[in-house]
Amino acid sequence: MPADQQSRRDFLRTAAIAAAGVPLVGASSLVTRARPRQKPLGFALVGLGSLSTNQIAPALQRTTNCRLAGIVTGTPEKADRWKRQYNIPDRSVYSYDTMQRMADNADIDVIYVVTPNALHGEHTIKAAHAGKHVLCEKPMEVSVERCQAMIAACKAAGRQLAIGYRCQFDPNHLACVKLARDKTFGDVRMIDAGFGFPIGDPAQWRLHHALSGGGPLMDVGIYALQTARMITGEQPTSVSALQTTTDSVKFKDVEESMTFQLSFPSGVVAHCGTSFKVGINRFAVFADRGSFGMDPAYNYSGNRAFRGDGAQLGGAQVDQFATEMDAFASCIMNGTPTTVPGEMGMRDVRTLMAIYEAARTGRTIRLA
Ligand code: NDP
Repeated sequence: MPADQQSRRDFLRTAAIAAAGVPLVGASSLVTRARPRQKPLGFALVGLGSLSTNQIAPALQRTTNCRLAGIVTGTPEKADRWKRQYNIPDRSVYSYDTMQRMADNADIDVIYVVTPNALHGEHTIKAAHAGKHVLCEKPMEVSVERCQAMIAACKAAGRQLAIGYRCQFDPNHLACVKLARDKTFGDVRMIDAGFGFPIGDPAQWRLHHALSGGGPLMDVGIYALQTARMITGEQPTSVSALQTTTDSVKFKDVEESMTFQLSFPSGVVAHCGTSFKVGINRFAVFADRGSFGMDPAYNYSGNRAFRGDGAQLGGAQVDQFATEMDAFASCIMNGTPTTVPGEMGMRDVRTLMAIYEAARTGRTIRLA
């Protein structure tokens, strides 16, 4: 069975569990309960920036199946701080040039790639060559070709590759997916989704195409695309898009804002928006007999699901990163495929590239 099809089946099962009202504050424990106890897997973080420092490392302390076992950094001062804070031995501290040596380190099972987008391929491939499983942050990379190379390297090494789609582990998102699948309000017809924020520091890599591959679309517009895919359970078949920039100094290298439309085989149309200029953080789903969605939708915590008829929806809060890492560790331990495989990440990158082409040419771009 193709990985993406298999993953959809697993995902729907998880969605059903979540929406059935099982308390998900221990979503990770749902996964662990079914399997024999094993030693937690050792995770090494590659790139000790904002996400690793503020979300992933703290989340690792809350996991059941994982532990922080190593780091890869280009900044020696960070290495000293992390070694002390997380009790990481010298032999598990690497630079980007030495990370292949992890092949000899049995304490490290999984590499979590948390570097700028255009470095994901290089770091994933090095990790695969060292014989490690890889969890790679979104977007998977900046071109379909690089995604293909990442998938090939992990396959050749016999290791799993997952993409950090944290919303796929948020019970509120899963509750919305279940409403769509159950046709609680009839068939879904339209989706309206957007994620954006006013970006600060003009010197950061997110504004440099060579490292980011694009602006808000690559960074957070991908969440709106994921929502549309999750709600429909389908791949978009065509895209159209409009790009706007009002500050051509700050946004000389990447787009400032983008709106895009996605058409799906069932006839659903998703209207999506993303921006580095204004805050947007919600989605709404319109079906024959009502609507539902989330507002806010894409925060790390505190997201809120709603139904148009005012009935209660979702509400459970989890640490999305802890749940995501525990789920991946469980797949590795049990030899089952991840629900968020590299193939899914590559498909999304293909769609993102088509959105850029649509914005550039003004044409509707068909996706095979
Ligand atoms: P940061 O800029 O805060 O950190 C990136 C780190 O990568 C740096 O601190 C540095 O770590 C390392 N790095 C290696 N080479 C470079 C380079 N040439 N330029 C800059 N940094 C470099 O970024 P974030 O942590 O915010 O984002 C990292 C990744 O995580 C991105 O792919 C982003 O899309 C994704 N992300 C995902 C989120 C989610 O919700 N899933 C949220 C935020 C980000 P060191 O000094 O240790 O070498």
